[in-house]
Amino acid sequence: MCPAAEDRRAGETAEDPERPPGAPPAYDPWAAAKERIVAACRLAKVPEEVTAVLLHPERVVEVAVPVRLDRGEVVVFTGWRVHHNLARGPAKGGIRFHPALTAGEVVALAADMTLKTAVVDIPFGGGKGGVRCDPAALSLGELERLTRRYTVGIASLLGPDRDVPAPDVNTDERVMAWLQDTVDLLQGGAVPGVVTGKPLAVGGMRLHSGATASGVVRCVRAALSALGRPVAGQRVVVQGFGKVGRPLAFLLASAGCRVVAVADVAGATWNPAGLDVGALAAHADRTGSVAGFAGGAALDPAELWAVEADVAVPAALEGAIDRSQAEALRARLVVEAANGPVTPAADEVLARRGVTVVPDILANAGGVTASYFEWAQNRQGYRWEEALVAERLGRTMDEAFQTVWVRAEDLGVSLRDAAGVVAVERVAAALEARGVFP
Ligand code: NAD
Repeated sequence: MCPAAEDRRAGETAEDPERPPGAPPAYDPWAAAKERIVAACRLAKVPEEVTAVLLHPERVVEVAVPVRLDRGEVVVFTGWRVHHNLARGPAKGGIRFHPALTAGEVVALAADMTLKTAVVDIPFGGGKGGVRCDPAALSLGELERLTRRYTVGIASLLGPDRDVPAPDVNTDERVMAWLQDTVDLLQGGAVPGVVTGKPLAVGGMRLHSGATASGVVRCVRAALSALGRPVAGQRVVVQGFGKVGRPLAFLLASAGCRVVAVADVAGATWNPAGLDVGALAAHADRTGSVAGFAGGAALDPAELWAVEADVAVPAALEGAIDRSQAEALRARLVVEAANGPVTPAADEVLARRGVTVVPDILANAGGVTASYFEWAQNRQGYRWEEALVAERLGRTMDEAFQTVWVRAEDLGVSLRDAAGVVAVERVAAALEARGVFP
């Protein structure tokens, strides 16, 4: 084994000297997820068979998605739907449209959902899906045809008692409405609760769209308070200005934080005095990106984590903070709004440097918790008042944070390890109660 390979951790390939600055690192999300599952199972001292079960996704379905483009040509895209583990309930997890999507990434994200639903103790298992495509290159009509054909491909897996998708990267409530409509048409009747994150008009829930962000902010507040630091005046950097990053920046600013830098796929902007988030959102609406914002200086996105800050919130894609970025990171608190943004190697660096990391399976669980509330209302056929949704969401997040924090202190481990322990214990209890069929 060469020295570089010896030094390498799961999920992260050898340092690549050819990698241009700013290019994403070569990263294997399923290898990283497996490493974390093994670590959590070891700490939780669950039987070996639980580890073995969690290292194997229950079902990985790959589908061909032929789509007739507007210019007449047919292009065949590849899609997946993965059920990682369903011991605690139906599969729950988003649908991602991304040009670099791989089966391994979908499996890793599904495994994250198994653990995440267990951390907030809601009755679901882990699922995830997506199509390898570049939605920015598709017309609205093409996107709708792709969504509907993909839905037909995975329809036999879906159902309120089997598998309940939701939005993820590059999908939104419009995509969820097409999905709901396609399932209804295939079934010949309404199937309430087969998808969450829908528009209000077709059974959605008003607070769903901001729920992930509000859960993240709840964790930022709880972590700062546990660390004995105030919320007001904290300097925050945010990577991603989409469905999660944008409301997050607003909520952080209104909580009194100074959002000093924001990056998206096209660039980054920086203002040490604090960005005007409203003006930044208006600029992004106009131009499609935070790049070129007049209220901040242009920043190389690769330099984002090196910006002087107190809190770092990755809210874009996995693998965003690798070993070298972890060394450069200035913040003392990282709150993972994205799924899998910190690689295992980076985790070690951050731990050595005394940086607290609130892990994804806790920090961004507000979204799936809101999905649970939407699903429950669809199944009851009764709409809850908004105040009740907000109160239950806040309470669920706060309780989960406290459970994980106390567990971390008791075991003397990181919040990631503690969240993993809490999750695998709950999944293990379900597996034990069910036994192994036949
Ligand atoms: P989105 O598609 O709405 O936004 C993604 C954002 O990330 C965009 O601003 C995009 O420009 C930016 N981005 C993409 N690549 C980037 C790069 N290389 N550098 C900097 N920025 C980049 O997606 P989203 O729904 O906001 O999801 C973001 C993350 O949060 C994902 O990891 C997702 O799995 C996770 N998440 C989302 C939800 C949800 O409710 N949407 C819930 C839980 C977790």
